[in-house]
Amino acid sequence: MSDALKPRLKPSTIAAHAAGAKDDETGGVVPAVHMATTFERGPDYSPLNAQNIYLRSHNENVRVAERLLSKLENAEDTLLFPSGMAAVAAVFRTVPNGASVLVQRQIYWGTTEWIRTFCARRGITLHEVEASDHAAFSEACVAHKPFLAWIETPSNPWLRITDIAASAKVAHDVGALLVVDSTAASPVLSNPLAHGADIVMHSATKGINGHSDVLAGSLSTAAKAAAIWQEIVVDRNTAGAVLGPMEAWLLTRGMRTLPLRMREMSTNAMALATYLSDHPKVETVMYPGLETHPGHAIAARQMQGGYGGLMSFVVKGGAAEALRVTGRLQLFLRATSLGGVESLVEHRHTIEPHTGIPEGLLRLSVGIEDVDDLRDDLGQALGQ
Ligand SMILES: *Cc1c(COP(=O)(O)O)cnc(C)c1O
Repeated sequence: MSDALKPRLKPSTIAAHAAGAKDDETGGVVPAVHMATTFERGPDYSPLNAQNIYLRSHNENVRVAERLLSKLENAEDTLLFPSGMAAVAAVFRTVPNGASVLVQRQIYWGTTEWIRTFCARRGITLHEVEASDHAAFSEACVAHKPFLAWIETPSNPWLRITDIAASAKVAHDVGALLVVDSTAASPVLSNPLAHGADIVMHSATKGINGHSDVLAGSLSTAAKAAAIWQEIVVDRNTAGAVLGPMEAWLLTRGMRTLPLRMREMSTNAMALATYLSDHPKVETVMYPGLETHPGHAIAARQMQGGYGGLMSFVVKGGAAEALRVTGRLQLFLRATSLGGVESLVEHRHTIEPHTGIPEGLLRLSVGIEDVDDLRDDLGQALGQ
């Protein structure tokens, strides 16, 4: 296909074709797996292929997956990491000792927990702020002039929505970078770079891979030449937080169906959120697709094609009742994580009891099963 046509291709087409990745050597319609850790030099000692010297810096499967993710995220460059947390850490390692950072409150617990320890060790002042409240975010930015601001939208497990464009503007006004953890949205439902974010981060373990069998993370940028990005590139290669070829290959395979899966998960989640909203045993439903959700208007503006498969709801009767419902579920598997084709349920309060999570809160990762089966399962577990 000519390059002139390519920009017009839609995400589903790009994904299904893995952005054109094939195996040119054999004519295979999917890329081969390249496991070599080292690459040969010729008799004159020049590399046979200047792009390939050593696996820590060079792997074709990683490049293929990064190229595809860049296309889906509308990014200039993407870097893959061996986990979402490795991607988080790669960003925070660029923060100078003694600087300050602003991090959204009540986001993915693993991020909060690691950042608190890291900042303490490095003498970085950490300001945790409820960033979905734009006035609070704005005030904190102006007061602290942080090196970077970290937001997560939709947030996990509260499903709060932070205004990316407004946050980017305020952050940039005080000279801060805006980094967005967009894991719950995936590149299909939101492209934070298009709304002014400097870097977008994903736990690719979740929706991007989508089959609960690869641990990976990613960072994407709209400004490949930016100093911070180049610092992250060098740090990944030298410190060695790289993804293995097999994982990268699996990730590419998973991404071929990403738009399809995100659409189906979003449709199912919307139907279940509506069902649960009307259920007498349910106190609240947290899902940005619902018009009653406080962040719905912002979500509608910065998300496209759906609101994702992640939702939380609070069961009346506290922890005991929530755990009883969880125990009765037949289809939803009781497990952490999200974004896979199979639906999962989690009682977050059991995992992080000291973070203000309501005791009756159940977090669902809605998969691609038949929605009637999922609704029936929730119905029988709640008891009509
Ligand atoms: C899972 C998750 C992470 C961490 O990613 P890992 O791949 O588990 O290291 C970060 N942010 C969010 C929102 C997540 O859901």
